[in-house]
Amino acid sequence: ARPRQLEVADYYQGIMQGDRGILARAITLVESNHPKHAVMAQALLQELLPHTGGAMRVGITGVPGAGKSTFIESLGCRLCERGHKVAVLAVDPSSTVTRGSILGDKTRMEQLTRQPNAFIRPSPSGGTLGGVARKSRETMLLCEAAGYDIILVETVGVGQSEVTVRSMVDFFLLVVLTGAGDELQGMKKGVMELADLIAVNKADGDNRLRALAARADYERILHYIRPATEGWRTQSVTCSAMTGDGIDALWATVESFFAQVRASGAFATRRQNQVLAWMRSMVEEHLYRSFFDHPAVTACLPRIEQEVASGTLVTTRAVQELLSAYEGANSSKA
Ligand code: GDP
Repeated sequence: ARPRQLEVADYYQGIMQGDRGILARAITLVESNHPKHAVMAQALLQELLPHTGGAMRVGITGVPGAGKSTFIESLGCRLCERGHKVAVLAVDPSSTVTRGSILGDKTRMEQLTRQPNAFIRPSPSGGTLGGVARKSRETMLLCEAAGYDIILVETVGVGQSEVTVRSMVDFFLLVVLTGAGDELQGMKKGVMELADLIAVNKADGDNRLRALAARADYERILHYIRPATEGWRTQSVTCSAMTGDGIDALWATVESFFAQVRASGAFATRRQNQVLAWMRSMVEEHLYRSFFDHPAVTACLPRIEQEVASGTLVTTRAVQELLSAYEGANSSKA
């Protein structure tokens, strides 16, 4: 049977009671692109807002194969055993194409899935990175209202999504493998600048010594990199997501980070900056779309683009023309 339609009040109550089924449906509501759902989602989020913000928000990134899923499973189970409620979310803008390359595969994180105190949600699919990020941020708020006190946000280490996840979490963990030297060629250094902690994973068996050496390499490099968080020295550790070695020590480091930034005020400042930046970026995105979808703009855009591309129209003049087409149409409407 089709589940009955829920009103905002039903969602609110279910979430406040920690009902996972209702939480999952509320996330679907938030992810929906239907205008009616958007109105409901906003009303719900507004009501839940006082009950949000209480979680430790931790981002986790790393190249495919670094061991993120294994790590999250191992860490997540430990945290649940200690009485935490753990939500695992993913931000994967590529999932539009690949239909969910991370967290999509149900066979992953089998043990964590069975924990009553864990909630796992794959990446919202569809749309731009901005759209995916908006949905994930709102999902995070829903999870917090439902009592999850640790939110782990996974993202694949390819490109812009790391910057996006960094902008929605308090703490950012980079999971790497041995061979720091090779990895540091290219963009890895940029990613290191986002991290609060670097975990050299797979420090087990034959690979343990190499992992220790890699960690030493990372420590050296970290001396030359500006820390991601004011007042916190980005450090590196080794761990094995498979055996669980080093995972407790790693989490102890995360906890000391939170104690420190909460005391210094850096935590509150970052949260405020994040939410304001989010608001501005949503305005930007809205204006961008409203501009390029506007009939007055679409009517003249091909001609203007052609003229700019062929070098017959100065770019600044082109922008002026487009803006006056847009603004003219808007002011005559008002
Ligand atoms: P992800 O793509 O980053 O999520 O990586 P996965 O968690 O799927 O791990 C990729 C592969 O590495 C899998 O075959 C895991 O079993 C293996 N793996 C993950 N963590 C460890 C570890 O700590 N030690 C060893 N030896 N293998 C690991």
